[in-house]
Amino acid sequence: MDCLFCKIISGEIPSTKVYEDELVYAFRDINPQAPTHILVIPKAHVASANEITEENSAVVARIFEVIPKIAAAEGLSGGFRVVSNAGADACQSVHHLHFHILGGKQLSDQMA
Ligand code: AMP
Ligand code: ZN
Repeated sequence: MDCLFCKIISGEIPSTKVYEDELVYAFRDINPQAPTHILVIPKAHVASANEITEENSAVVARIFEVIPKIAAAEGLSGGFRVVSNAGADACQSVHHLHFHILGGKQLSDQMA
């Protein structure tokens, strides 16, 4: 499958890893929109938040267990935002499920 994030998980495309376990990989966004901008992804390919099912949702629970650990490691004691763009209206550009962690500054009160 020609998927950028699957290639990042396999190491074919380099990334700056911040966390990894048997289900989840996290790395720094190449075009950060905040002082901390990390992407957390399932190792198994899921196209977007619109493709989460009973069969594959365990990894989503794992991702949300990992997020506070990453936030603590990044020193995001003031808070952070988690975003997942799904589909064209949300401008999803990589079609492998990912959760953005954004923090390290006062974020906008506008989300859209
Ligand atoms: P989205 O627009 O929600 O699909 O987010 C895709 C994100 O992937 C964007 O924030 C990009 O900056 C990021 N991105 C694209 N290519 C890479 C890469 N090679 N390494 C790290 N982040 C990337
Ligand atoms: Zn993929």
